[in-house]
Amino acid sequence: MKELVVTDPVTPLTHFKLRRVLNEPEACLRVLSQTGQFSAMDPLVDGERCGIANRVSLSGVGSSKLRPLETACETALRLAMWDQHGVQPAGQTHFGQAIRELRHIGSYNCRAIRGATNRMSTHATAASIDIRGVVLADGTSVDLLSDWNGSVAQQGFLRDVRDAGCQWFSTVLGPEYNALHADHFHFQNQGWGTCR
Ligand SMILES: [Zn+2]
Repeated sequence: MKELVVTDPVTPLTHFKLRRVLNEPEACLRVLSQTGQFSAMDPLVDGERCGIANRVSLSGVGSSKLRPLETACETALRLAMWDQHGVQPAGQTHFGQAIRELRHIGSYNCRAIRGATNRMSTHATAASIDIRGVVLADGTSVDLLSDWNGSVAQQGFLRDVRDAGCQWFSTVLGPEYNALHADHFHFQNQGWGTCR
């Protein structure tokens, strides 16, 4: 079977191909290089419970720039699929234009889950990323905090990209989940399908 191509239309085989690529570190880097702007880095080892395997410094996916971000290739590739098949189409649908930047508030963070004392967050291995909004091609920002309940277009866009996130990540937490997520989407590689 042909390897995943990020820009190919989504078919019933796409998720199967994606899972194969995500399970093989070299394949992840190879496929990410189709549309991602990044440099591969040595793994980060940060104590017993924190670090980043298959670490990249990511500065863009497709036509969307990112403030340079250290994350895992697997997180970056899911983000690339979300941008290609979720964010860019939603930009056209709701605003008639492309998205030029994904605004994030980080991926790697060696910490426990908020409100839990002992369980580590998926951020401790960069297996998640927090997105606070986007910048449209014309320079307009769309932010969760100010626009989740904004105009019809803003509301439609943000709900569409949240729902699209659920296709490419295993867990998505946003404003409808709890107040901790009023200002960002938490996109997480593992989990049980929570999508709110
Ligand atoms: Zn998060």
